[in-house]
Amino acid sequence: MTTACAMLEPMPTIDLEAAWAAFERRDRRWDGRVIGAVKTTGIYCKPSCPARRPKREHVEFFAGSDEARAAGYRACLRCKPDEVGRDREAIGRAIELINQAEDIPRLEQLAAAVGYAPHHFQRIFTREIGVSPAAYARGLRAERAASALNENGTVTEAIYDSGYSAPSRFYADAKDRLGMTPSAWRDGGRGETIRYAFLDTPLGRMLVAATNKGICRLTFDEDLAALKLRFPNATILPADTAMASLISGVMSAIETPTAVHDLPIDVVGTGFQERVWAELRKIPPGETRSYADIAAAVGDPKATRAVGTANGSNPVAVLVPCHRVIRSDGSLGGYAGGLERKRKLLAAEGATWKEQAAFDL
Ligand SMILES: [Zn+2]
Repeated sequence: MTTACAMLEPMPTIDLEAAWAAFERRDRRWDGRVIGAVKTTGIYCKPSCPARRPKREHVEFFAGSDEARAAGYRACLRCKPDEVGRDREAIGRAIELINQAEDIPRLEQLAAAVGYAPHHFQRIFTREIGVSPAAYARGLRAERAASALNENGTVTEAIYDSGYSAPSRFYADAKDRLGMTPSAWRDGGRGETIRYAFLDTPLGRMLVAATNKGICRLTFDEDLAALKLRFPNATILPADTAMASLISGVMSAIETPTAVHDLPIDVVGTGFQERVWAELRKIPPGETRSYADIAAAVGDPKATRAVGTANGSNPVAVLVPCHRVIRSDGSLGGYAGGLERKRKLLAAEGATWKEQAAFDL
């Protein structure tokens, strides 16, 4: 933005309370969203600046460095607020490179491509994204391998949605970023606090994660890094005492699958996915449906394959009982948590299926 144009653009509205609160807690996630300038020193800082906090009445807020400079302030030498945008653009470019690469790029290559020293780049990337570039690349590869059929709701999409492939959008002006949108969910969890715990269940270790509206993930073999990749813009914290009843509800639903439970679920998918997931929840314990049955139930009898895909991308295992969907010939079909778990779940519910002979597989 040039200063000449700035006069003509509407001033972004800054939520001063929220901006001050972010400064007080040195919230890194607010870096790039707002600039705080100290009247007594003439210096402007990003919210995470480690320097001592001035009194509230000595601070004024700007949407960006340009505005702060136009008002006569100088950049803080300690927190280097002007580099936030540059760092983030570099991260956005690195993510594009990783997304486009056939193989996982080496750190040195990535850092050189975006003009940073490797160690420094590793640090800022990890700070912003929550995982190292290599871990991001591995997660992406795993995701692609696991869900080649999955058109929606993937890590990749979450990242694209979060705008890292288009940093200009993600790092758009403060006006956009201070107004949380209803689509926060799809937008990498922006504005949401997600709490998580790992549970030792009869089915093995499971990750449970919840927003304040309900369970957003219940999965096998998922670690914290993967959760953070899925919701790159959410605040991700360990479970607190308020989540305890939800966790015990999940445990009892897994241990006693035939009992009725109505735990709150907070998931967002495409329209089609949501119709499939809703249909899955209607299958009573002990019963199974075929992919074709579900396709017919959602009003698209030919969409058997798409049902299989939506079934496979179910974010809340067991509670959204995708394990109750089997093939039309009565054989198990697939399961994201592995067939052994699908057998265990169905057996615990008293359902029947047809085991395939090894040579059929
Ligand atoms: Zn500073």
